Amino acid sequence: MDHTQQAMARLTSAGVGCVALTWVDNAGITRVKTVPTARLKDAVRDGVGMSPVFDVYLVDDSMTESPAIGGPDGDLRLVPDLDRLTTLAAQPGWAWAPVDRFQASRAPYPGCQRSFARRQQELASAEFGIELLMGFETEWVVDAGARGSGPAYGMARVVALSDYLREVTEALGAQGLVPLQVHPEYAVGQFEVSVAATGPVAAADLAVLVRETVRGVSARHGLPVSFAPMAVAEGLEGLGNGRHLHLSPWRDGKNLCRGGDGPFSMTGECEAFLAGVFRELPALLALGAPSPASYLRLRPSRWAGAHHCWGLENREAALRFVAGSPDDLGGANAEVKSFDGAANPYLVVGGVIAAGLAGLREGLTLPPPVSGDPAGRPGLRRLPTELPAAIGQLADSAVLREAMGEELLGAVLAVRRAEVELFASTTPEELVEATRDRY
Ligand code: GLU
Ligand code: MG
Repeated sequence: MDHTQQAMARLTSAGVGCVALTWVDNAGITRVKTVPTARLKDAVRDGVGMSPVFDVYLVDDSMTESPAIGGPDGDLRLVPDLDRLTTLAAQPGWAWAPVDRFQASRAPYPGCQRSFARRQQELASAEFGIELLMGFETEWVVDAGARGSGPAYGMARVVALSDYLREVTEALGAQGLVPLQVHPEYAVGQFEVSVAATGPVAAADLAVLVRETVRGVSARHGLPVSFAPMAVAEGLEGLGNGRHLHLSPWRDGKNLCRGGDGPFSMTGECEAFLAGVFRELPALLALGAPSPASYLRLRPSRWAGAHHCWGLENREAALRFVAGSPDDLGGANAEVKSFDGAANPYLVVGGVIAAGLAGLREGLTLPPPVSGDPAGRPGLRRLPTELPAAIGQLADSAVLREAMGEELLGAVLAVRRAEVELFASTTPEELVEATRDRY
């Protein structure tokens, strides 16, 4: 039996009848084709057909067009990555695998976001001998009425939703993920889960899997759930859902975030990588905080990373350096706080690596770190405060243009601009309403 047949036999004996094959579009929505388990080998060999027009779908399922993409013609093949095949704990009888998208000829498809992330991951290794560890934190809001209304970070909220939270944790563990912690967040009904760091493409895959697992457990409890940047209109005064990215560069089993003579004992290479990410942050926002709704969340003094600064353990800085403890040097990492759940995680990891590699090539250094709340401090600038400004930065970023290529970048820019247009005359409340249940 080959690899695929073994996987199919495993699924069949576990009672799995259907496999969900997902990718994330440029609007940040996880789209899917499903196949019966018996057809998995055909999906691996031939791919599953899907129109390229999904690369220019918007958050409301309307379509725009980019210079290369639009209209009803053409076909792509979705090819599942069986290395990531996972039996789903909250959807009995189902398994899941992410796909790479190829042209009908099986030539690489330049619009494939997962392939873009993999190219950047491979470049880090080939050019600098660097492996990156990455992990996303997932925040969500569950509409559990009074049960979700306990205090921020309060045990009362865990008690009230005890079975639900345990099932979320156990479902992740049963799927082979390593949940690090689950806690009630600041906003009403808001929770966060983090899972152990992995390679970049795997981290993006896991971001998809974590979200769909939370969604699945929530559905079994009859609880509506939102991963949108802002989930409740009344919460406009409060906090949104972030999806922060943690990262650390490694070589030969050594974490480059420690053991050097850069700031806070990071190595020069770590500093250069982070400085590259730091420089591109305004442009990266168009990938990581990609919805007009993202800018309802990305405000000062909300721990959302609204200022273009970095600091040691500073939860208001867009880039937060986490030094780790002296006996856990491997735990040191940097966290990009500005990103949210409307983002396509593959574009995020690919864009961040591309930015970091540019920092390494150019030997960049970081500006002085900032401590305390940067809000209102002279000389400290906000990141873009609305999507059009971030789109402009992305369009002008030579680093990201070169890394993404015209076809992928063109589609991303088209979707971003069309969503600006779509919501040009909506109120914040209408924008929250229109995006709350979409991601
Ligand atoms: N919910 C906050 C956000 O919008 C983050 C809170 C935290 O630091 O975990 O990103
Ligand atoms: Mg959080």
